[in-house]
Amino acid sequence: MNKHSIFQKIIKKEIQANILYQDKIVTAFDDIYPKAPVHILIIPNNIIKTANDINIKNKSIIAHMFFIAVQIAKEKKISQDGYKIIVNCNKHGGQKIDHLHMHLLGGAKLKALY
Ligand code: AMP
Repeated sequence: MNKHSIFQKIIKKEIQANILYQDKIVTAFDDIYPKAPVHILIIPNNIIKTANDINIKNKSIIAHMFFIAVQIAKEKKISQDGYKIIVNCNKHGGQKIDHLHMHLLGGAKLKALY
């Protein structure tokens, strides 16, 4: 399986994932290797490879991803204590899958990166 296609297969339900939310624009599902008690990925249904590929035409998708991440944080009852939303970009950022994704992490006090 080509690593580019993993998230596309999850969107199309061709491989199993615990999908928490899906609409025409985004899909949100549990990260398979959670780094926190709550670790959810929010991805655009139409592939945007990296943050570098955000442009004037697709930038509203990012606002929707952020909005859905916050709605899920509220549903998971982690919003009051807080959470992190992380987007890794390319090699130095630690991006392993070439399909833009927001990590929503919470449910415990998380280490600061800086
Ligand atoms: P990144 O390092 O920012 O590219 O994050 C990729 C994330 O995708 C990692 O946290 C992985 O644990 C997660 N991941 C990889 N494959 C799957 C999968 N099949 N289902 C859910 N999450 C996955």
